[in-house]
Amino acid sequence: MAVREFKAESKKLMEMMIHSIYSQKEIFLRELISNASDAIDKIYYRALTDDAINFDRDHYSIEIKTDKENRMLKISDTGIGMTEEDLEENLGTIAQSGSLNFKSENESKDDHDIIGQFGVGFYSAFMVADKVTVISKALDSDQAFKWESQGIDGYTITTADKDSVGTDIILKLKEDTEDDNYSEYLEEYRLREIIKKYSDFIRYPIKMEVTES
Ligand code: ADP
Ligand code: MG
Repeated sequence: MAVREFKAESKKLMEMMIHSIYSQKEIFLRELISNASDAIDKIYYRALTDDAINFDRDHYSIEIKTDKENRMLKISDTGIGMTEEDLEENLGTIAQSGSLNFKSENESKDDHDIIGQFGVGFYSAFMVADKVTVISKALDSDQAFKWESQGIDGYTITTADKDSVGTDIILKLKEDTEDDNYSEYLEEYRLREIIKKYSDFIRYPIKMEVTES
């Protein structure tokens, strides 16, 4: 399985995320929920022009699951999903992102300013996770794919099993340190607090399933 390299700008952003001294690491959840919501919007807009797609609001949601034993946090959506090419283009190249345009005018600012000013998007997951796995099945596609990365060294894309259309983002949370507590992102009250703070306006239901132990 070949390891693919991130584009130079992606690497730079990711390095900023991994070594971030930014205190509000919690915003990673806002970014992932907003991507999930965007993905559901995309099916909604497709349905407006494509009679073959029936958008039943009840079938669309964002689900958050924790697994304390394995330090895993999963954010799933029933959105439009990504093909293998989408995974390559959208998650391998930050230039695809409308949210980050920091290169020229913001080069001199510190990462605190940049994160505050723009959404940093998907890569913000690397502020809290040392491994990120994305399992996705695109609308109109028979095959699901898995994108996986442990940081700047690159990522892999392989085939995966997933029955329903949509995307699962699985974060393996970093170990706690003296300065940073990542285990808190496995606690229901804490996740609810973050969702309330940043994602209250999301138009789709956000469900939560938390396992103790
Ligand atoms: P932005 O949301 O500003 O475009 P992100 O870095 O947050 O930037 O995401 C990059 C791209 O990855 C998105 O534009 C989208 O195409 C894709 N993507 C990320 N998460 C999902 C998801 N849950 N479902 C479908 N596509 C996604
Ligand atoms: Mg985004």
